[in-house]
Amino acid sequence: MLPVVALVGRPNVGKSTLFNRLTNTRDALVADYPGLTRDRKYGQATFESRQFIVVDTGGITGDEEGIDKHMSQQSLLAVEEADVVMFMVDARAGLLPADQGIADYLRRLNKQVLLVANKVDGIDGDSESADFYSLGIGTIYQIAAAHGRGVSQLMTTALSPLDDSFPDMQVQDTEVHEEEDAEAQRERLQNLPIKLAIVGKPNVGKSTLTNRILGEERVVVYDMPGTTRDSVYIPMSRDEREYVLIDTAGVRKRARITEAVEKFSIVKTLQAIEEANVVLMVIDAREGISDQDLSLLGFVLNSGRSLVLAVNKWDGLDTDIKDELKRELDRRLGFIDFARLHFISALHGSGVGNLFESVQEAYASATRRVSTSLLTQIMELAQEDHLPPLVRGRRVKMKYAHAGGYNPPVIVIHGNQVDALPSSYKRFLMNYFRRALKVMGTPIKIEFREGS
Ligand code: GDP
Ligand code: GDP
Repeated sequence: MLPVVALVGRPNVGKSTLFNRLTNTRDALVADYPGLTRDRKYGQATFESRQFIVVDTGGITGDEEGIDKHMSQQSLLAVEEADVVMFMVDARAGLLPADQGIADYLRRLNKQVLLVANKVDGIDGDSESADFYSLGIGTIYQIAAAHGRGVSQLMTTALSPLDDSFPDMQVQDTEVHEEEDAEAQRERLQNLPIKLAIVGKPNVGKSTLTNRILGEERVVVYDMPGTTRDSVYIPMSRDEREYVLIDTAGVRKRARITEAVEKFSIVKTLQAIEEANVVLMVIDAREGISDQDLSLLGFVLNSGRSLVLAVNKWDGLDTDIKDELKRELDRRLGFIDFARLHFISALHGSGVGNLFESVQEAYASATRRVSTSLLTQIMELAQEDHLPPLVRGRRVKMKYAHAGGYNPPVIVIHGNQVDALPSSYKRFLMNYFRRALKVMGTPIKIEFREGS
């Protein structure tokens, strides 16, 4: 499972700066759900081929009036979900009472906590941060998040104890590049159950859908121990195909009355996406498509997983509302042209059966063998159709293509100056391959290699 690193500290110590540096992006997933604090951000990061989730807890102020008052339940939850906590302080501002408040809270946790003194650029870090030893956390890691100084040493220390948490599969999935490895991976994938994650915002109908898929009686027996960040894994079969349902909603819900917010965890959702082969993303027809849906989709796209979209609560809507919704979906989801869109009612069961056809199709597309000769042929046709541009006076020449991985399918193209291909040409190639291979339900990736 993807390990989770939480950044905590009072405002202005540099949490977002470090967050942006680690995730290399500004589009973080902001936990802006009803009932959740707005300032928590989630991002995916990679350090030396190890992937992890970073959470900027934002909300902690550690004010001297007491941690409970200033650390919302949601911020506490973020810390609880973390494997490593990076406690950030500001070396320029020096030790403040608020830092002490946060330290007192963190010391009581049974967690790996690293004390990080930020902003040591242009000052004498050793002497300016010496005061922080009194926090009783131990070693002080000096960094300048804004410039990247000390960050890689910090991450090595933070992630090394977690090396067992990076599953073999995951490392292989992201590092397969050679044709033989790709084929071995594909065979492995075809013999395993399809891991299907059902994700979406709170209240879109995930547990209703899960119950509907499983049939009522299966559900009641589940009462899994575990923390909020654990999904429930449910083996099932359908049309002679084995599945493992990764249930992020918790089918327990029926037995107990719990608030949606309590059982909803973004960390759990992101981990489920990463672990799945196919993601079934549920959208609420009554709410339309929200920014949250879009950022969750961003994560799915990044992960390369296969995708099926289900617009739920399609029952009892007026025709003009349905038409309006369809237009909105077209407009806002147009960029995801590879995923099938279903209109369903988890409550009444309509459309639910057809979902599995799309799931199967998506998985088949993601794991269908593509030979070197076929890929090279398609590549040549594309090249004839649309000649690659000149770079530094020489024409880019693509020589051959082969499979470099599956789920998602990776196409490796070798040639001269292929690294220099403009993104418009890369997009053209992507669409060309997609059409020629008739892939549905999965993104494809193209990698370029210089030479042969
Ligand atoms: P947050 O409130 O903890 O998320 O803090 P921010 O990341 O927003 O940073 C607060 C301020 O500190 C911003 O003006 C940053 O530019 C600045 N800052 C962050 N990291 C560094 C650093 O390494 N060196 C210096 N000199 N300033 C920094
Ligand atoms: P979750 O938080 O995503 O697991 O959502 P739930 O499955 O708990 O559903 C949230 C609410 O939406 C419940 O009151 C459900 O009865 C309702 N709901 C779920 N699916 C449907 C549907 O297809 N149609 C209608 N009208 N309501 C639904």
